Amino acid sequence: MKNYLIAANWKQNGNLKSLSHLTRNIIALSSKRKIRHKIILFPPAIYLFNIDSLIKNKKNILLGVQNISPYNDGAFTGEVSSKMAKDSGCNYVIIGHSERRHIFGESDLEIQSKVSASNDMKMNIILCVGETASERRKKMTKKVITKQLRTALFPLRNRLRKNLQKLVIAYEPVWAIGTGKNATTEQISDIHNYIAKSLSNIFGRNSLKIKILYGGSVNTANAKSILELDSVDGALVGGASLQAKKFIEICSSI
Ligand code: PEP
Repeated sequence: MKNYLIAANWKQNGNLKSLSHLTRNIIALSSKRKIRHKIILFPPAIYLFNIDSLIKNKKNILLGVQNISPYNDGAFTGEVSSKMAKDSGCNYVIIGHSERRHIFGESDLEIQSKVSASNDMKMNIILCVGETASERRKKMTKKVITKQLRTALFPLRNRLRKNLQKLVIAYEPVWAIGTGKNATTEQISDIHNYIAKSLSNIFGRNSLKIKILYGGSVNTANAKSILELDSVDGALVGGASLQAKKFIEICSSI
């Protein structure tokens, strides 16, 4: 069986009390349902340390940070470095989430710097790519994804090649995030196969080590049909990960 990776992106939601409660419920339900897949929790950065203390010693539940500084230590007010995230118990980082790209104007080059800094710290990187609704309408999806992947990864290919099992790509069509409108299984297969081909153009045969996740309105009703696809290695879940029961149902759907 595939070793799935299911990520819970809590974004800027909850508070210390509610997210601690959510974590405890995820731990309890995951053990009750005997979930073997890897679960990664992405709380707001300020709570990383607290959530880490709750998941200590849980082999299949790990911690990640939703965003990262492109810089190491220094005068960068408000930023959190990969080294600091690691110190707080994180092994994973989400880079290039569509909300970072579209609300905070992150460019592909900034994303490349973040990949570089996180790779230097040997973090597991989840790089998000995906097209907007208008780009899909204009049949630009593959062009957009090629640019996002190549700008972020190609210049770093020799360094990344040493740790390819630590690189994960999440295909997240922007129009599917938080809208309740997931991509169809045909659209997902088509783009995941395209991403796999693009990764092989960058890294060669070793690119098979790179997992490809789908994200965008994954819920209890559609998770099984999405996760069953050959080209899908897991999911990045936003809204549905804020309810332990729903999230664990998604994890146990495959
Ligand atoms: C996300 O935030 O990455 C995401 C996929 O959100 P949602 O599941 O709510 O669409």
